[in-house]
Amino acid sequence: SRSVVIIGAGIVGTNLADELVSRGWANITVVEQGPLDIPGGSTSHAPGLVFQTNPSRSMSQFAQYTVEKLSSLLGSDGESCFNPVGGLEIATTTERLEELKRKNGWAASWGIDTRVLSKEECLEVYPLLNRDIVLGGLHIPSDGLALAARAVQLLMERTRRVGVHYLGSTPVTGIEQSDGRVTGVVTPNGSIQADIIISCAGFWGVEVGAMVGLPVPLQPMAHQYVKTSPVASQEGKNSLPNGAKLPILRYQDQDLYYREHGDRYGIGYYGHRPMPVVAASLGPTPNHVDERNMPSRLEFTPEEFGPAWKLSQELLPVLRESTMAEGFNGILSFTPDGGPLIGQSPTLDGFYVAEAVWVTHSAGVARAMAEILTVGKSRVDLSGCELSRFEEVQTSPGYVQETSSQDFVEVYDIIHPFQPRESPRNLRVSPLYARQCDLGAYFLETGGWERPEWYEANAALLKSLPARWQPVQRDAWSSRYYSPIAAAEAWKTRTAAALFDMTASRRLEVSGPGAVDLLQRLTTGDVSKAPGTVTYTLLLDKHGGILSDLTLARLYEHVFQVSANGHTDLVYLSREARKQTKTNSDKHVQVRDITGGTCCLGIWGPRSRDVMAAVSTDDFTQKGLAQPRVKKSFIGGIPVWVMSVSEVGEIGWEIHTSAECALRLWDTLWQAGQPHGMIAAGRHAFYALRLEKGVRLWGTDMTTEHNPYEAGLEHVIQPGKEGFVGQAALQEASTRRPNRRLRCLTVDDGQSMVMGKEPVYVSGRAVGYVTSAAFGYSVGRPIAFAYLPGSVSVGDAVEIEYFGRRIGATVARDPVYDPQMSRLKV
Ligand code: FAD
Repeated sequence: SRSVVIIGAGIVGTNLADELVSRGWANITVVEQGPLDIPGGSTSHAPGLVFQTNPSRSMSQFAQYTVEKLSSLLGSDGESCFNPVGGLEIATTTERLEELKRKNGWAASWGIDTRVLSKEECLEVYPLLNRDIVLGGLHIPSDGLALAARAVQLLMERTRRVGVHYLGSTPVTGIEQSDGRVTGVVTPNGSIQADIIISCAGFWGVEVGAMVGLPVPLQPMAHQYVKTSPVASQEGKNSLPNGAKLPILRYQDQDLYYREHGDRYGIGYYGHRPMPVVAASLGPTPNHVDERNMPSRLEFTPEEFGPAWKLSQELLPVLRESTMAEGFNGILSFTPDGGPLIGQSPTLDGFYVAEAVWVTHSAGVARAMAEILTVGKSRVDLSGCELSRFEEVQTSPGYVQETSSQDFVEVYDIIHPFQPRESPRNLRVSPLYARQCDLGAYFLETGGWERPEWYEANAALLKSLPARWQPVQRDAWSSRYYSPIAAAEAWKTRTAAALFDMTASRRLEVSGPGAVDLLQRLTTGDVSKAPGTVTYTLLLDKHGGILSDLTLARLYEHVFQVSANGHTDLVYLSREARKQTKTNSDKHVQVRDITGGTCCLGIWGPRSRDVMAAVSTDDFTQKGLAQPRVKKSFIGGIPVWVMSVSEVGEIGWEIHTSAECALRLWDTLWQAGQPHGMIAAGRHAFYALRLEKGVRLWGTDMTTEHNPYEAGLEHVIQPGKEGFVGQAALQEASTRRPNRRLRCLTVDDGQSMVMGKEPVYVSGRAVGYVTSAAFGYSVGRPIAFAYLPGSVSVGDAVEIEYFGRRIGATVARDPVYDPQMSRLKV
């Protein structure tokens, strides 16, 4: 069998060894630089609070599995590695109380049993709280304490018995490779052969990545933890030294959390300034490590903790009976978006990473990695966790440090789903940026790009907006990062024409004599059609889950332009292209990211053809360029590729050209558009228009957890096509009725907004969750996509829970706008 080396015997590495052997893998060696009884990484001092509820469904699923697994991991004393004391998050501000209601909604969406408590109920659950400052809370009975260091020892014992080999005090100093694949690891005691290497090196991930030239975008940060002296009134209430009976407690309004350690208290604090650490500067792990001397534990800086101690004594007055007995600045990993890093190196086959993982998510992440290795896919969606999800510009040490520091500061903050990072900004701007600024664009950031959400220049249109297009009054939360101007931009797109800058959307070029073979093998569509055709298609994994959706424009015999999603698509297609080229050089194929260096403008709306007629003598009627096709043309003297595709449901085109011609193209279209009422429009309107048109967004409305039948995309599977990745699984899925389906909901009162991730109730039971939502300007009511059981049908009544309030909605026929496609046939 294939030989595996796991680097690091923390909670992630040992769980991974366990997950692999339990799936029948043998020949596994875990190499750990520290002594095995106490390796000295973050796990060795982790207080182990497990709060499962997270805005990310995947993170919640990871945590739920950690609870399940550690609860069943028993020592010889019969005790498990999880103390199910429950969790309590308290609110001391009205904003936080609202936030806890939102969180209660996520819990219902992800299947975690939680309850919002009144002040009195909080005091019943946690009598030590100061009743004068607590307003209410969220109780999660299944949360608790992971005994992480003990779990590591038990997992080592269990896996050793079935042959896993552990090498302690053995640092990995290099990675051996040959022909693009790993072959082994180098240690001071010699090399160890390996077909697969998984780095579970925690906050040393950057250093291990550097051994193979892989930038691992994590930032080690110091975080303060203090233990008090014994609290007199708590004496005898818990077994010593680590016993706990009261729920784990979070006081997020002041960046604090608490647990009991016998009759002492443990206090964790995130309110201090970010303290980034360079792991390499810690030096080698010594041969002797103990609770107080370990590389992941830095000297305490009491001056940073001052406010925390005062606030803690205020929240838990019994702490006044104690002192701060010991403290340390412990090290753990942060990432630019707070998610973990899971996946294979983009360029070195067989080198994997599972890092920036909390104890809370450790078993879940280990299971995901084991599933990737053994069956090729994780049951949990990894789009927010993929190692390669970051753009290259997001992996520089400076960027990682700055964004991770912000992440540290915001770790307990109330974060709006559209809230952009504050800095760095303007990393990537469209060539049309200056024009957009002139029009008063409001920008939000994604993947380092600045994208206009709406244009203040369109504010005047609100006065001429017909009554049925007038935006409804929104609540304060859904009004953030929003402007009613979006309603005017949607109106203009549906009634005249609008220019959308699509430059930030990813464009790849797939070229070479093997291009058709590659895309034919990887996608659900028939891409062998002649140059000039455009195909909307899906990338599936071999289990039929949706890896991505692509629009393929065949420009020439051997050249496709591909509209793709994340950086992960580039990595996946490049890897598959390399494999194909290696096995059959006649069918060589290259994949190139052409997003930078090119630009794309979308011009859509019933008057858009008039605009095109003013700037080109070419024929853009259905006869001249049917939907969906692509042709080369000139606009205002600029060479362009014009693609007749529309995500908003009106006639129009995507116009592609190289970056240096972008301004000229914009200006030409802009001038020609004025007599036809054309405006510039932003993402906010685009997002709403695509939703009413039923266009799914990858990463939210569909992921690897969904097959095309569940996502309502069966029409994208080319009938009779064989031999593509995922086909066998699809065939099997096609014989049964999907037990859940993506549905479009319309909100009954015509105005209550929802934002996404809210639970959906049928007959009083939470049975699904909202994936994306917007105001449907053309239908005059909020709309939402949601995964619901197959038994739910069009016309059924449902309820969406928004900040604790139930909103009536109805399952609508999808799409709600122009189902006959009559708007596109003109
Ligand atoms: P580690 O435990 O650090 O393991 C990585 C291992 O890799 C180390 O043992 C290291 O020695 C080894 N290694 C590294 N490089 C090499 C090499 N070149 N060769 C060989 N071996 C190598 N999380 C929670 O979920 N709940 C909490 O309440 C919580 N509280 C925390 C409080 C503090 C103060 C801190 C600092 C962290 C806390 N965390 C908490 C986070 C949690 O401790 C970590 O995220 C988690 O332990 C990381 O586990 P790991 O296995 O990835 O890393």
